[in-house]
Amino acid sequence: MRPNTFDFSSTLTTEASHATHLQGEFPQRSSCRAHHDSTALAHNEILIEVMYAGMRPGDTQYGQPSMHGASIQPLIGQESIGRIVAHGRAVSSFALGDIVGVGTFAASCGQCDRCLAGLAQYCQSGAVSTIDYQHAHHPMRSFGKSTPHIVVTEPFALRIPHNADLAATAPLLGAAVAVYSAMEHWKLEPGQRVGVIGMGGLGHLAVKLAAARRAGVTVFTTSPEKKMDALRFGAREAVLWNDEEAFSRLTDRFDVLISTVPQSYSVSDFMALLKLNGTLINLGTTEALQDFPAPNMPRGRRSIAESTGGSVAEMQAVIDDCVAHNIKPEIEVIRPDQALEISNIAGRTRAPYRYVIDFALGRQH
Ligand SMILES: [Zn+2]
Repeated sequence: MRPNTFDFSSTLTTEASHATHLQGEFPQRSSCRAHHDSTALAHNEILIEVMYAGMRPGDTQYGQPSMHGASIQPLIGQESIGRIVAHGRAVSSFALGDIVGVGTFAASCGQCDRCLAGLAQYCQSGAVSTIDYQHAHHPMRSFGKSTPHIVVTEPFALRIPHNADLAATAPLLGAAVAVYSAMEHWKLEPGQRVGVIGMGGLGHLAVKLAAARRAGVTVFTTSPEKKMDALRFGAREAVLWNDEEAFSRLTDRFDVLISTVPQSYSVSDFMALLKLNGTLINLGTTEALQDFPAPNMPRGRRSIAESTGGSVAEMQAVIDDCVAHNIKPEIEVIRPDQALEISNIAGRTRAPYRYVIDFALGRQH
């Protein structure tokens, strides 16, 4: 990835400046014309009219009016697809009207060793999340019947193939890239055994992507009703967490376990399922996993690892691969006005794996 020349210092929001943003008025429709003016953008920025945005089911973390000043705002940004409506004068890789994707991050320093190595998601100054970037530089108006816009720096805009199913491609930008990046780094090969722990938005894509690599996939779920889904997505078997016989049978069998569970849990029973030198990769919870085995049990040089998002190159690769091989997330397309409603419903018993907001439906509604 070529370095960008973004002035990173201006992105580091202090609490005070953040508060100012929250107190400030969001641009209204009349000022949106000015917003489309490329002179309002930094030289390496791209303004995107959002068409589709992925959203996690029952996600109460987002959608809280107090969190970022505009309740719907955090829902869009991490997995968005849209059309370029303006760009800064130095943008050279994209043109007005191009359809592009936006993932978790919108900017990074572009100068540290990690950025220069193409690993901006691990930027030593901290990659700036797409959501934080909007708050710091381009606060979006909350939408009613209008369409939200989002700004990213050029290196973080992704090309979307012309034949892509746009709604189904949006979740690839967040969920799929996280599992794809882990599979790349840990060099998942055909014939290896992979366990996917938890099967929601992240997990179901982990199953599909691992199966596409011809790995042998076993899903570990607490939901009996998801067992058939797991097989349909390409898993060889699905095991309930309380199935002691299966855990005993599967001891010492897996090269990799991919954990997509969003909460902390005890990993000791799962660690015993790993082969010699096997790795449990945590992509789910941001909390510490519990019961990491002591060195004397079970023996096998096993590891627990973390991984975050993916590089820009990996994001482009997972989009291209999934479109080329027709690998799609399981989605339910919703109207914008349904998004807030859904985000505030905790613990829906039978939610789809991913919601995707279609903003064109908002205009028709
Ligand atoms: Zn950096």
